[in-house]
Amino acid sequence: MKKIVLLFITFIFIQNLTAQTTYILCGKLMDTKSGKISTEKTIVVEKNKIVDVMDGYIIPKSVVSIDLRDKVVMPGLIDFHVHIEQEFTANSRLNGYILNEADVAYNSVNFAEVTLKNGFTTVRDLGGSGVNISLRNAINAGKIIGPRVFTAGKSLATTGGHADPTNGSSRELMGNPGPEDGVVNSVEEGRKAVRQQYKNGADCIKITATGGVLSVAKSGDNPQFTVEEIKAICETAKDYGMHVAAHAHGDEGMQRAIIGGVKTIEHGTYMSDETMELMKKHDAYLVPTITAGKEVEEKAKIKGFYPDIVVPKALAVGPQIQGTFARAYKKGVGIAFGTDAGVFKHGNNGKEFGFMVEAGMPAIEAIQSATITNAMLLKMENEIGQIQKGFFADIIAVDEDPTENIATMENVVFVMKEGVVYKK
Ligand SMILES: [Zn+2]
Repeated sequence: MKKIVLLFITFIFIQNLTAQTTYILCGKLMDTKSGKISTEKTIVVEKNKIVDVMDGYIIPKSVVSIDLRDKVVMPGLIDFHVHIEQEFTANSRLNGYILNEADVAYNSVNFAEVTLKNGFTTVRDLGGSGVNISLRNAINAGKIIGPRVFTAGKSLATTGGHADPTNGSSRELMGNPGPEDGVVNSVEEGRKAVRQQYKNGADCIKITATGGVLSVAKSGDNPQFTVEEIKAICETAKDYGMHVAAHAHGDEGMQRAIIGGVKTIEHGTYMSDETMELMKKHDAYLVPTITAGKEVEEKAKIKGFYPDIVVPKALAVGPQIQGTFARAYKKGVGIAFGTDAGVFKHGNNGKEFGFMVEAGMPAIEAIQSATITNAMLLKMENEIGQIQKGFFADIIAVDEDPTENIATMENVVFVMKEGVVYKK
């Protein structure tokens, strides 16, 4: 009998531990919906959710409290464009020939952890080998530490297009990749490739609508899909509950992508005024990736860092991106925060805020694009992107008020994801 009572008490004790309530005392708290910052608030977290946000500092006895009274607290950030499997170095071109899937997987574990610990509690992964799908599953299962991942699996390209995995290989190694490998050349193949990504476990679809900077190919901006192919891809993706993101630097490819039905344009480098109007008409969002533009411009100046064919593209595209973002923002194009981390070091995603502010976007709006806008595009606007009752307890803090010093976003000092503290 005694034993049973003891077991019962232990059971209640463990129950209480897992249902633990945490009180987070916030000196300043950012409301991303209204764009206002209020002072002296207490967030109450139970399990993985926020259960209350109260005025003043509430410190009940015998519960865990986290003291952020000298910090600015805001919801976890969402980066809409990362490549969590890789980090570009001078030797990256070799990786396709020397790394096995297991090597890629082990590398990505650290990239995921670093991303989370810099305040990004959710990311959209826009293309890798497919290891990103296993990575997402491992994070969701609690086996490794990382942000919530929405992944495109492998990007879809046309033959010789930006995401054709065998670009620049010898003929012998080139082979003839098809829809199973993410290479499509017709409406039918486009549909098949989308369905294949869905079957593989992707959450969304990425296409490379134009040439790109880092692929071993001549053009960085030529259109690479027909409108019909893009339409078929977008329609099929919609059937399967997925949206489509389009990498695009050139204007013609961008227009085809928008008319074809993509939800986001990545980079958007040579976007004309006419295309900006088209973006607004079709409710498409620009994902700026200014940090990646700055990075490729800088690295292209180091001799031998990129293959020769890449250098002129990096020098032309890199410096354009921030200016295009400035014009698009002024014209009222919707902006979805995204960085292209992986082109630069994972964890430096917060630099993008400074570049956006420098280009004319107020700090609050830049943070809103990384929270409420991206949450809405993920159809999670009632779960992430705000600190509100009922939302996931994705909570971060910085030392200073970002509206006074945006660089503070590069130094996130506290990170909680779904009620678990990863950094403090
Ligand atoms: Zn990218």
